[in-house]
This record gives sequence, structure tokens and C-alpha cells, in this order.
Amino acid sequence: MDRRNFLKLSLGLGAMAFLDISGNGSVSRAAAAAAVDSIITLPPLPYAKDALEPHISARTIEFHYGKHHQAYIDNTRKLISGTGYAGLPLKEIILQSGGKPDQTAIFNNAAQSFNHTFYWNSMKPGGGGKPAGRIGLAIEKSFGSPAQFEKELSEAALTQFGSGWTWLAQDGAALKVVKTANADTPMSRGLIPLLTLDVWEHAYYLDYQNRRGDYIRAYLDHLVNWSFAENNLAG
Ligand code: FE
Repeated sequence: MDRRNFLKLSLGLGAMAFLDISGNGSVSRAAAAAAVDSIITLPPLPYAKDALEPHISARTIEFHYGKHHQAYIDNTRKLISGTGYAGLPLKEIILQSGGKPDQTAIFNNAAQSFNHTFYWNSMKPGGGGKPAGRIGLAIEKSFGSPAQFEKELSEAALTQFGSGWTWLAQDGAALKVVKTANADTPMSRGLIPLLTLDVWEHAYYLDYQNRRGDYIRAYLDHLVNWSFAENNLAG
């Protein structure tokens, strides 16, 4: 999700809860508290859970979105309740908790909440292939060709040791492939995320078992949502 959509979602959810007007026309304290808590919620999947088949099965989505992503959201809400993070947008929680050893659990759960929403939006049914338009030009300029981008992304995703994420990110005027371990995100390095690929085993094991390379190929050929990447381009 890009920053604009993220803010729209956060503000929208907050406003909805604040509009819970009590009988005498004033906003109740309970409604205000609910608004604070409701900022962190599981966003709807941007397509049906079987829409990415045969490349990612409905069963994978059921667990990955319905269980893993939901758990990160639930944990974030529990962990920030009653702290200075309550009421802050997810991105702000990630930036403020990053690099603080006593806040690792908050960072991990908040970042995983963000990363998974970003991942669902990085894919679409009938996606993949060569980028066109502004994002196509930006890929050509930074990598030389779409094929070179695919090579760099594949290498990064294949060589991520253990759990993590592979990203297309913007660093000033340049685009680059970045990999992050566990929950970490390019935002913590001051980069703008454009696309992401989840390379935790839970993302592909039901469909591909140990064949991470086949999962990466399916993502590049059939799933990448280039218009989402283009919308995230800054400048
Ligand atoms: Fe995941």
C-alpha cells in the first residue's frame, strides 16, 4: 500500500470509529478509544483468495493472509495498547520502534503487518512480465533492462538466508533491489518500497515446498503488479 492509500485507510478507519456518536450527539470516550485501537486492522485482500491460482493457491492465502497476517495485526494491537504508540499509523510505529532493542516485538509485528499488506498489493491476477510506462522507464534507467532487474531480484530472493523479504525500492532517483531479514523493511534505511516478495517459507511451502526458485519465477512472470509499483514511485 502506498503512503497516500495508507493514510486514507488510517484516517478512514479512525473517522469511522469517531463517527460512533452517542445518543446525545457527543462522541463517547469509548468511541474515541475504539478509534485509537481500530487504526491497526487487517486490510481486505485486494482480490479473491483463489485469484492468484495456479501460482499461489487459495490454501496458501488462507493461512498466509488469514492466519499469519492476522496474527501480526492482532499482536501489534496488543503490544501497543496503553503505550505511546497507540493511535499512531503503522508506518510511524515502524520508524519509531526500529533499532530499539527493548521494542523489538513491537517493531517485528508492526513491520510484518505493513510488509504483508504491501506484498498482497505487489501482486495481481494476470500480472508479471515487462513493466511499461514510467515504471518501465525507471527500470530501464536503473538496471539497463527488465531482464537485468529480474536477474537481480531472483538472485536476491534465492540467496536470502532464512526468513525475509526481497524488494524493489527507490533510493533518490535510482531504483535498486534490496533484501531484508525477518521483518525488516527498506523504510528503516530511508528507502521507498515499490514492490515486495515474501520469501519466508510460509509464503510458498504449501505450493512449492523447497522450490523457492519456481515461486520467484511465478511472481515475476504472472503476479507482479507493475501499476502498484508505479503508483509508489516518488518524484
Ligand atoms: Fe509472510
